Amino acid sequence: MPNDTMSPDLAHIDSWIFDLDNTLYPADVEFFNQIVVKMNHFVARYLSIDTEAALHLQKTYLAEYGTTLSGMMAVHGMDPAEFLKYVHDVDLSFLDVNPSLRAAITALPGKKYIFTNGSKEHARNVATYLNLFDLFDGHFGVEDTGYIPKPNRHAFEAFLGTFDVDPTKAIFFEDNLRNLEVPKTMGMRTVLLVSNEDWSHEPEEARPANANVKADFVDYVSNDLAGWLEAHT
Ligand SMILES: [Mg+2]
Repeated sequence: MPNDTMSPDLAHIDSWIFDLDNTLYPADVEFFNQIVVKMNHFVARYLSIDTEAALHLQKTYLAEYGTTLSGMMAVHGMDPAEFLKYVHDVDLSFLDVNPSLRAAITALPGKKYIFTNGSKEHARNVATYLNLFDLFDGHFGVEDTGYIPKPNRHAFEAFLGTFDVDPTKAIFFEDNLRNLEVPKTMGMRTVLLVSNEDWSHEPEEARPANANVKADFVDYVSNDLAGWLEAHT
């Protein structure tokens, strides 16, 4: 797409960074719930506790360590590989392939990346299923950050260093509000993807944001990634 259609606020952007889950596809309770249930089962089995006790522990770890995985590694010394393989083994057929999103990402000027708190294999599997994977110049998973997840600043620094991205020329798309504050302070433009579905059954830290969210580190809010990209580039 010619540069003269680019929103002036984005004319300087040369790196487009996308979270994966609930960002490159619209947040879908049924799909995401598969991962949630599998994490819960894994934790329960690993610690030989019931699923309710595991859920309580997970909420604590989510708040204190960023993810269930980080908490399990920090507190219980769990090996991340088996956990990631288990929780990401999900049915992808809940997801819809969106040709408009493929066209919109294809048209973006500059480099494109996936940056997920899930595994690299998960990023590859999901993005391949969505017919998007070949459009990206790189994908970055939680194993690439030494298992320190977003929103930890170290995770963003690891990403930027690996791909030699200048944060003041980057834009970051993410459904989890708390993952946008650090990239904003680093100089990135930020886009929050919101969901209209009911996520009230999920712990607050794990919910995609809803459209009423307001934060000064969010530059844009959208519930339609393809539509947003078409309108701004
Ligand atoms: Mg996400």
